[in-house]
Amino acid sequence: MASIMMRRLPGSFRHFSSTSSSRSAAVEVKRIGVVGAGQMGLGIALVAAQRAQVPVTLVDSSQASLDKGLAFAEKLLAKDVSKSRITQEQADSARSLLTPSTTLDDLSSVDFIIEAVPEIPSLKFDIFSRLAQIAPKHAILATNTSSISITRIAASTTKDARDTTNSSRVVSTHFMNPVPVQKGVEIIAGLQTSQSTLDSAIAFCKRLGKIPSVSADSPGFLANRILMPYINEAIICLETGVGDRDSIDAIMKNGTNVPMGPLQLADFIGLDTCLAIMKVLYEETGDSKYRPSVHLRNMVDAGWLGKKSGKGFYDY
Ligand code: NAD
Repeated sequence: MASIMMRRLPGSFRHFSSTSSSRSAAVEVKRIGVVGAGQMGLGIALVAAQRAQVPVTLVDSSQASLDKGLAFAEKLLAKDVSKSRITQEQADSARSLLTPSTTLDDLSSVDFIIEAVPEIPSLKFDIFSRLAQIAPKHAILATNTSSISITRIAASTTKDARDTTNSSRVVSTHFMNPVPVQKGVEIIAGLQTSQSTLDSAIAFCKRLGKIPSVSADSPGFLANRILMPYINEAIICLETGVGDRDSIDAIMKNGTNVPMGPLQLADFIGLDTCLAIMKVLYEETGDSKYRPSVHLRNMVDAGWLGKKSGKGFYDY
């Protein structure tokens, strides 16, 4: 990519360039931290250990989530060994690079932090305000948010908006699910993000074998602005009887050459995550075309969140 032009929302136009003349030094990443050991955080930690071969401190407020996540990592590594994709030594080496922790204080000597806690704005703001104090001053603070404004997350790192020491090192590295499989990653800069932070995020994601796409800090960014209305429309087709579950998934799977239909995909993403993103799109744009389907809201209220809760459009 020779240069990157980003068009922001009206009033916040900004131009980023990664041409050699303006390229700033990317942070050298020797150790990383991942906050949240759920499906995304665990995937990011595992890929970092395998591809970049850096030590990873994996922080989760729940010891049970850490135990479950690390057991799942071991299962994925064993599967790779059994399919001869990696050797036992490589699996052991990757596993030895993952260190669990229940406190953010253990991130005081890492170079790059990726936050992957649930899609709750106040939770992310609180974590970033703490990370800004705990992390070394050179460390990049990245979020895996699906929809929350990067500018707003960056703003939570400072009490004085004129001081961009911390907010300039906040960026989004929006990995796709499942992280070990999907090559794409969306990189999003907030209004305060520096060129060097953006370059560091792009360089680190490339080291993980990912293909970065840069998008503007606009509701839903690119991937979810396109994907979530598609999933939401499929749910509206179901609730209004245009088609049943299997017809909807079959026509999109077999008709557009994707690995699964929209309802199964929603189950894999998590219906709570889908609803949270649709709410952001609807509330931030005020455009009725993004109104979340009533059936989606009802399913989340029932606790039918998809694969992670054992029940969604399909049973697991
Ligand atoms: P998840 O529910 O599977 O995992 C979240 C983890 O965060 C849990 O293990 C939880 O214990 C932990 N956590 C909660 N509060 C915490 C705290 N205060 N400190 C540390 N850990 C805490 O969620 P997920 O699906 O992995 O999503 C994480 C983020 O990634 C969200 O922002 C989501 O929108 C985004 N995302 C999700 C997908 C997807 O397909 N699921 C895809 C791209 C991005």
